[in-house]
Order: sequence, then C-alpha cells, then structure tokens
Amino acid sequence: MQIKCNVLDRQFQMYQAEYEEAALRVLRSGWYVLGNEVRQFEEEFAQYTGRTYCVGLNSGLDALILSVRALGIGRGDEVIVQANTYIATVLGITENDAIPVFVEPDEYYNINADRIEQAITDRTKAIMVTHLYGQASNMAPIVQIAQKHQIAVIEDCAQSHGACFDGKMTGTFGISGCFSFYPTKNLGAFGDAGAIVTDDEAFADKIRMMRNYGSKVKYHNEIEGVNSRLDEMQAALLRVKLSHLNELNQERKNLAEYYTNKIQNPDIIKPQLRNKADSIYHQYVVRCSERDRLLEYLKKNDIQTQIHYPIPPHLAECYKYLGYRRGEYPVTEQYADSMLSLPLYTGMTHAEQDYVIEKLNAYK
Ligand SMILES: *Cc1c(COP(=O)(O)O)cnc(C)c1O
Repeated sequence: MQIKCNVLDRQFQMYQAEYEEAALRVLRSGWYVLGNEVRQFEEEFAQYTGRTYCVGLNSGLDALILSVRALGIGRGDEVIVQANTYIATVLGITENDAIPVFVEPDEYYNINADRIEQAITDRTKAIMVTHLYGQASNMAPIVQIAQKHQIAVIEDCAQSHGACFDGKMTGTFGISGCFSFYPTKNLGAFGDAGAIVTDDEAFADKIRMMRNYGSKVKYHNEIEGVNSRLDEMQAALLRVKLSHLNELNQERKNLAEYYTNKIQNPDIIKPQLRNKADSIYHQYVVRCSERDRLLEYLKKNDIQTQIHYPIPPHLAECYKYLGYRRGEYPVTEQYADSMLSLPLYTGMTHAEQDYVIEKLNAYK
C-alpha cells in the first residue's frame, strides 16, 4: 500500500457539487475581486470565531505582516515569538524591520508561557503566539503577561481554525487573529487566501485600507498600502468549506485519536493535549530519537512523511544576520531533530491508517 503524506482531492470530492455551484456562481457574476462573496465570507468567518470583524486578505503571511504594521511596530521594536514556529510567523515580524525575540516551546510544542517574561524588555511591543500543529497555546498566562506589560498579543492561527483554549476560540485572545487558508490548512481554499479577525474597529479599518493600496475611497490613498485582496472565487469556495469545517475538524480528531490509541511503540512519542486546550490536528506529529532512520524506514514501506520543521528560524540561512548559533535554543533544536508528521488527511481510511500503524509498531 502506498500512503501519501497529504491528499487534497478527497475533501473536494466530498462536497464537489457545492464547490462547483459556488465556482459557477462567481464565474457568471461578472465580479471577481472584493465583492459580495468576500463580504459574506468575512461575516460568516467573524461569526464562526466569535469576533466582530474579519478582513479577507491574500495570504496568512500578509495577515501577520499587516497586523504587525497596523500596530505601528517597526524598526528597533521587539516581538516575542516561539522559536520552533514556521518561518512565516517570523517573517511577519522581520518584514516590518522589527526584531524577533525567540522563546522556547513547551512539551505541547507551543510557546512556553513560563519563559516569556524573562524575554520582555522595554522595546517589546507584542507577543506573537502560534497555535502550532492545531493545538491551542496556553492562553491564560500569556494574556495575563501581555496585560501586565501593556503589550499586544497577535495570534498566528494558520494551523488552528476552530481550535479552542478553555472553550474560547483561537484568534480571539489578542488584538488580531491571523489566518491562512492555504490549501493544506484545515480551512483551506483552492489557492492562496488569508484573513484577520478582531474586535477592534479601528484596527479592522486600517487593515481593510492597507489591503487595497491604503485607500478607503478609490484613489484617495491615506496610507501606504499593499495589494492583499481576497478574490471572489476563493471566498465563495471558502464559504462552502467553512460550512463543513466542524465536521472536517471532527474527522481529523477521530483520525488522531485512532493513531493515539493504536500506535504502541516505546520509541515513538505521541502528541499530548494540554489541560483546557484542544487540537484540530493540523498535523499529527510524533517524536523519535533516530528520526531520520524512522523516516527512511517508512519511506521504504511506501509511507510518506514530512518534517515540520527541519530548520528552526533562528538557524535559517535568511536570519544569519541575527547572529544565532546552534545550541542557543536546545529544546527547539532537539524538536527539529526528532519531529515527524504522520500522514493525516480528510478521507483517510482505517485501512490506510492501519497500514501506517502496523509499520510503526513493527519499527525497532
Ligand atoms: C501556513 C502558515 C503561515 C503562512 O500562511 P500562507 O497563507 O502560506 O502565507 C503562517 N504561519 C503558520 C504557522 C503557517 O502554518
């Protein structure tokens, strides 16, 4: 049996008629960028998260970059961010010439709240929280620390659409919840797309201006903006997907639970859930001390896996100028060397999972 790491067409086929109807509706409408579909999606997604405003954008990276910029964070300012996140989170900071200050993750692979305060200086302007792999971060202490020090919380929810901490949805704890709708995300479009959600009207207005060249009224450019508009096709398709997101997330939770119950190999460390947090299992990530050997073994058995992520941002080529060296974030580096994401996708069958489980349990 051949198992791919990710399969995207099965979730299309599940709701094919609805997607095709939405696509045709857009094609026939004669309106293709920032129109009725975008407005409706923004309303529906704001409501889904429980926030007042949603602004549709071009990508998750834009959501991060524009959130930092709209808060006036720039050259010389520091933003705290977990060291084991995806590079895009950090780009959201450095694209504004601000400085990322890395903090090690906890055993749930999210930012270690106990280590945040020691990283705060008088130049710290925000804490950027990534709900990595779909599990909500430890938001109670994070919000408390941010309030105490009067700094903003920006959430990177690119992997956590619908995940909750203490019953409250990720993306609703700080000023800005930043979402990506890249096709592989839990709420994935059929191309690039993103959004922010917020309760702050002025902040929403500013992002709305920024996404369209900095103008509210056409040709009246109040600020220097960008082009980060969401198109009607992606918005219409996202509306279909959003209407099924809870059942899609539930399916992933069931698949994850199946792995957790059936993988029984002392060499393989399974993911754990934090008290009060839940996960939508954007990835099912295990750890293994000889990870590369495990990866090769699975590959030989026709099972594709991925590493999220093999090189942590502080060691990335592009951030050489920050001057970090290997050894400075040992927890992050150890995770990067031992993590492996197992195949998990909408429509994955028990037979496919059983094959992966059988091989994992036979691994020595
Ligand atoms: C995917 C992702 C992003 C970037 O989203 P794009 O839409 O690809 O720009 C940012 N942060 C995290 C954690 C992601 O997984």
